[in-house]
Amino acid sequence: MNRRLFLKNTGLATLAAGAVACAPSAMRIAEKQVNILHSSRYLPKLRISMDRVIKETVGLRPYRTLGPRIEKEALGSKTLVHNYGHGGSGWSLSWGSADLAAELVASSGEKQVAVIGCGVIGLTTARMLQFKGYDVTIYTKEMAPNITSSKATGTWSPAHRLIERENITPEFYTKFKRAHETSFRTYQNLLGLGDYVVWTDSYAVSNGPRMEREHDMDEGDDKYAFMNVLPTTVALKKKEHPFKADYVYRSTSMVFNIPSLLKLYTDDFLRFGGKVKIQEFKSLEDIDALAEKCVVNCTGIGAKQITQDECLKPISGQLAFVIPQNYVDYRINTQGGYTINRKDGIVVGGTHKMDSWDTTPNKEDTEQMVMAIKKVADEMYT
Ligand SMILES: Cc1cc2nc3c(=O)[nH]c(=O)nc-3n(C[C@H](O)[C@H](O)[C@H](O)COP(=O)(O)OP(=O)(O)OC[C@H]3O[C@@H](n4cnc5c(N)ncnc54)[C@H](O)[C@@H]3O)c2cc1C
Repeated sequence: MNRRLFLKNTGLATLAAGAVACAPSAMRIAEKQVNILHSSRYLPKLRISMDRVIKETVGLRPYRTLGPRIEKEALGSKTLVHNYGHGGSGWSLSWGSADLAAELVASSGEKQVAVIGCGVIGLTTARMLQFKGYDVTIYTKEMAPNITSSKATGTWSPAHRLIERENITPEFYTKFKRAHETSFRTYQNLLGLGDYVVWTDSYAVSNGPRMEREHDMDEGDDKYAFMNVLPTTVALKKKEHPFKADYVYRSTSMVFNIPSLLKLYTDDFLRFGGKVKIQEFKSLEDIDALAEKCVVNCTGIGAKQITQDECLKPISGQLAFVIPQNYVDYRINTQGGYTINRKDGIVVGGTHKMDSWDTTPNKEDTEQMVMAIKKVADEMYT
């Protein structure tokens, strides 16, 4: 870009016109400042080490080989709507799944509805029902922060550990497409209200060509073109980033600030007249005993015990929280770990253990993930 075009595009033209007498060095400083604000060359260095780890969590992704169960069945004289089994995509697809579940509730003709579960799926389902005029009570064993939804990284990942590829049916495709569209749109409406949802850049740093992303759907397939809602990933040249690596790619996506979002959803639910009751359900008979004639089951991995669903299994994922760092508004993704810049910490993640019910954090896993990121961070600007 030539100098005149640069000044025009950056809005510095007015400054330049009014400062004819300005020394050339002052102009260069102004240009540089604008560059710092807009480029990925000057990222604040990440401070990460084991002694900065303040919390570790292990959550169980409710993975269902057939994809999320969003369907209704009769339970005695009641209508039971299921909305569980969202794997590694529950945050991303929550609002769209809630919308699909609310449609099934509408067909029951009932106006008083029980929602079981107070994770992101239960809360968004309850809110969606309130939007449509239902009187909703949430029954739940536990609330944040003792739920899987509180132990998620919180990124837009609508097709992560969602379904076995060979189980994709036209029915699944239609529901997924709708849930994807509704959820994406809803999250854009949460922008600007605070920092509940933010868009951030992520740097994939490696010494080999682009790391393949793990997705259950083939994004190259035209059928899935609707998923291309994010800006295109860019390969950066050496001078365009501060990392010491042969390959650096920048992509841009959404981060959900999980604690504040769960609080927002809960507060809104209560403000609009919803009630929350602490109660555990061990079987379908327990659900049948509820007063409400329509019940939505949003129990995540807890649905395994209640419904005996053989397709549902846990995929555990461990996170380490590093002291939040002001101005670090970017993410790193490298072999062995990734970071998410959240308000409650620099979240470091990277583990997936299929069929593991163990929720005790493993020190070695934390060390491996933290050290992988530390190496990348320590080498910045070297
Ligand atoms: C490490 C990790 C990272 C993740 N990252 C992302 C991400 O970046 N993006 C994304 O979209 N998704 C992500 N996920 C997935 C996402 O967190 C889940 O899909 C989502 O939280 C599931 O929400 P849920 O409401 O169904 O389950 P939960 O949050 O587990 O909520 C279930 C609720 O039901 C209640 N309950 C359960 N059993 C019973 C019972 N028997 N009786 C009464 N109440 C009961 C629980 O107490 C709880 O309130 C991640 C998950 C993990 C573990």
